[in-house]
Amino acid sequence: MSSSAKYIFVTGGVTSSLGKGIIAASLAKLLQARGYSVTIQKLDPYINVDPGTLNPYEHGECFVTEDGAETDLDLGHYERFLNVPTSQANSVTTGRIYQYVINKEREGAYLGKTVQVIPHITDEIKRRIKLLGNTGQYDIVITEIGGTVGDIESLPYIEAVRQLKWEPNFDCIVLHLTLVPYLATSGELKTKPTQHSVKQLQESGVQPDILALRTEHPLPEGVKEKVALFCNIAPKAVIQALDAETIYDVPMLMLEEELDKVVLDKLNMEYKKEPELTDWKEFLYKLKHPKHKVKIGLIGKYIELKDSYKSIAESIIHAGTKNQIQVELVWIHSEDLDKENVSLLLSPLNGILVAPGFGERGIEGKIQAVKFARENKIPFLGICLGMQCAVIEFGRNVLGFTDAHSTEMYPETPYPVIYLMEEQRNINNKGGTMRLGAYSCNVSENSNAHIAYNQTKISERHRHRYEFNNKYLSEYEKNGMKATGINPENNLVEIVEIPNHPWFVGVQFHPEYKSTVTSPHLLFISFVKAVAENTSTPAETATKKSQTI
Ligand code: GLN
Repeated sequence: MSSSAKYIFVTGGVTSSLGKGIIAASLAKLLQARGYSVTIQKLDPYINVDPGTLNPYEHGECFVTEDGAETDLDLGHYERFLNVPTSQANSVTTGRIYQYVINKEREGAYLGKTVQVIPHITDEIKRRIKLLGNTGQYDIVITEIGGTVGDIESLPYIEAVRQLKWEPNFDCIVLHLTLVPYLATSGELKTKPTQHSVKQLQESGVQPDILALRTEHPLPEGVKEKVALFCNIAPKAVIQALDAETIYDVPMLMLEEELDKVVLDKLNMEYKKEPELTDWKEFLYKLKHPKHKVKIGLIGKYIELKDSYKSIAESIIHAGTKNQIQVELVWIHSEDLDKENVSLLLSPLNGILVAPGFGERGIEGKIQAVKFARENKIPFLGICLGMQCAVIEFGRNVLGFTDAHSTEMYPETPYPVIYLMEEQRNINNKGGTMRLGAYSCNVSENSNAHIAYNQTKISERHRHRYEFNNKYLSEYEKNGMKATGINPENNLVEIVEIPNHPWFVGVQFHPEYKSTVTSPHLLFISFVKAVAENTSTPAETATKKSQTI
């Protein structure tokens, strides 16, 4: 199927972590606001087939799509900015490309040919790039190439872009994001790294069409012209990407720089209309004008790298903003929590969120946090492992199930209140084998979940292997912990609540994957509201911590 979709490649140079994902998502937002249908794809140059097997310390959170793909956290930004779901096709890794090519080779599909990076790997990269455009659903596909230009791993991707630029009937442009470092001693912004980075791209045969210069300070007069001259780029296609107070400012900053117009000119597309950003602007206004301030403790074991909980932190921002409440997230390492210090560390909090996770490390700290929240009537949200900790804690301390546990941490526990799902029993491979993606759930009338969602049929995304052991359900329910969400097909417990508590909800799924700027997640909104109701702190206009892109 041929397609008329146009393509924008986003590459990065000089250093990693410049915020290519945020620039890509911001550009997509502006094009969407002008009435175009846009999607964003991420190409990751690592050899893992997907990030599902990666430790969060490596690349931060693993984001899960509706169709159950385990993907890079940038897909979370894409969804949060565009309010459009992504899918497996939006996330490609070198591992997946090679796996596909090698499988084809084993099938004999290359008819005796030598299988090589060029053309076989690059052909497969190009095929994956075109998949989304060929659906006919999108006017524009933005493809973000992970890594930094010059990395050995990125070369086949850059080569694929080079080939595509020459392909007849394939309309594409390249936006290259670089850094303009500031030398504090001389008070200067330096463009040399950008010039080198563009040279490197040119050596691979790719001339960027647009340059975005990430900078700590506004670019002085003349800098854009200088960069344009050295890099073969029109001065108005050199865009300033100034550090922002919040990532949600970036679309507005890009609008000021007219990035949308530059892109549409280069792609020979109409401006259509002035960007419709009313909701976005309202969100920004509320974000910057909070009326109240609350503190929520996020209890996790990967908190040294906050990106490990990216979607949760953003969901909290969305939900707080909706209520014009500024939520200060207090990051608490679950390994630092024990019986002795739990009260000292958690007393200043208005709400407690126990995060998802895997394995034994830090589990007892999480269980202590649940106990503190339950006994002190502090609003509590447990997500995935956090929900499982709530079940374990209740088993141990209310039902008297000594040493109750999940069989993930303690296979011989006398009370396996959380245990391996039937469908997981004979699975040995770790990659892509969890219960993943969207499943439906029936919500009990008048529960906190029902009040939050205002419906009894919901669908949420999952990523887990263990589940509530229904053998113990009646004992739990008799003693005050209710299963208020059940999967209608297999009876798996999806939500637990303690009705005799201001707000105590544990969910086996991950609501954080579905919260977006224009559609904050209802469960998070309810949680933050309950937290605000629990706080006696007088309303105060909070000073906001700056967030950079
Ligand atoms: N480790 C738990 C399980 O596999 C929880 C997973 C999670 O928190 N995402 O069931």
